Amino acid sequence: MGMSTVCRIARRCVYSTCKSDMSHFVRSMSFLSEFQKSLKEKDSFAPTENRPADEADIVIIGGGLVGSSIAYFLKRKIVRGMRVVVIERDPAYTRASSSLSVGGIRQQFSLPENIQLSMYGAEFLRNIKEHLTVDDADPPDVQFNPYGYLFLATEKGVRQMKTNYEIQRELGAKVELLTVTKLKEKFPWINTDGIELASYGTANEGWFDPWCLLTALKQKAKSLGVQYVHGNVTGFTIKKDKIPKNGPYDPYYDNRIQNVKISMPNGPEVRSLAATVVVNAAGPQAGHLSKLLKIGEGNNEMSVSLPVEPRKRYVYFYHCPSGPGLDCPLVVDPTGAYFRREGLGGNFICGLSPSEEEEPSVNNLNVDYDWFEDRLWPLLSKRVQAFENLKLKCAWAGFYDYNTVDQNAIIGGHPVISNFFFANGFSGHGIQQAPAIGRAMSELLLEQSYKTIDLSRFGFQRFIDQQPLPEMLVV
Ligand SMILES: Cc1cc2nc3c(=O)[nH]c(=O)nc-3n(C[C@H](O)[C@H](O)[C@H](O)COP(=O)(O)OP(=O)(O)OC[C@H]3O[C@@H](n4cnc5c(N)ncnc54)[C@H](O)[C@@H]3O)c2cc1C
Repeated sequence: MGMSTVCRIARRCVYSTCKSDMSHFVRSMSFLSEFQKSLKEKDSFAPTENRPADEADIVIIGGGLVGSSIAYFLKRKIVRGMRVVVIERDPAYTRASSSLSVGGIRQQFSLPENIQLSMYGAEFLRNIKEHLTVDDADPPDVQFNPYGYLFLATEKGVRQMKTNYEIQRELGAKVELLTVTKLKEKFPWINTDGIELASYGTANEGWFDPWCLLTALKQKAKSLGVQYVHGNVTGFTIKKDKIPKNGPYDPYYDNRIQNVKISMPNGPEVRSLAATVVVNAAGPQAGHLSKLLKIGEGNNEMSVSLPVEPRKRYVYFYHCPSGPGLDCPLVVDPTGAYFRREGLGGNFICGLSPSEEEEPSVNNLNVDYDWFEDRLWPLLSKRVQAFENLKLKCAWAGFYDYNTVDQNAIIGGHPVISNFFFANGFSGHGIQQAPAIGRAMSELLLEQSYKTIDLSRFGFQRFIDQQPLPEMLVV
């Protein structure tokens, strides 16, 4: 799929590309070209091992799937002469989105970029041995279950479903539309009351174990020389001294992070790490991390905050031996309730995102069992009669890395702090997009522009321009 086809499809979308302020673009491009030049110079005379431990070329804050994927793709491109450090405060990932996710992958999105990001996710999983083998040892089996997503639409959703389908097909996604008759034939256990159309992914969709993928990516990144540091980033020092002699005074010109401050575990020690480039891969904490740089305070572009916050989502695990069998896809009801088979033996998992008014507190990861009983179960048993007799066995909660403006990824540089880059806001689809995001960030940071999937529309500039780019298919 050429870039031109993607651009054509992108232009057809309702929300057009953001207005771009060229001065930001030039600023971040000139920073990147300077950075790349410095890397080439280092490569010839300064092997990574001989450099001081308190400096790094690229510091990635957050070692979840997104941060680890970025680290892997960077080092895959340049093995020697570039120090990449990942700082992770919770190396057991007890609260990370990546480990609490349900690991679904689908091609069915409304935006071309999201379709392409996930298509690459599927390709990456297919070729996982090529990517993640370490010293001839195969990576762990990520337990990929190749079953499609089945989206159901009422009359109200038919038009959007058909539009999405056209875009998906044009990009090469294997998706089919099912009339109610076909739906009944294929999945006779579904109650089709109120359903007018369905959309079903026939390839490159399913679910896998995100923990195994994270482990494998981390092992591979480490084998290529990425350093993982256990610590909590609590602040930064900024350099603000390069004000252009000519042209209008710009108080933020060439602001850069100089040092990342890291609180070390088990003690009061705070270490300072000099960084040329800093990547925010802090998942649900990405908005909080950006506030440490005063993003969202002050005037002009600095007044615009990174709109990412944690949003709690529950996953319920239940047993229902009389429920759908092996052919059960991941079903998304028009109400937003979803369920899928979990292993064999009549087990399933399910969930339902709340409305804005119903969002639960994010002070803890406690599960609300009433949410299942009162809200979710009635929807499940309406769609599949056998679920009237299900038995709830356990549940967990995790935080979505939720983009409150348009529920889409935010990728690329900050317009003022020229060496600060975002890889945030995936809003429930970051597991499947992590491989493509890693590749895209390596292109941007090491080659100055996106080479495979053009993610320019996913930049921070859209919030400054107040041009949101919503994804219509958020589960
Ligand atoms: C219940 C649930 C179901 C989901 N289902 C799916 C799905 O089916 N498919 C899909 O694609 N996606 C899904 N997601 C979304 C997906 O999990 C996330 O988008 C993805 O994991 C984001 O990865 P990440 O690496 O950015 O964030 P994380 O995995 O949260 O990693 C960020 C890391 O940054 C660290 N960190 C934060 N702040 C600091 C700091 N100051 N200093 C040092 N370290 C820091 C954290 O400890 C954390 O480990 C789901 C999420 C949840 C919660």
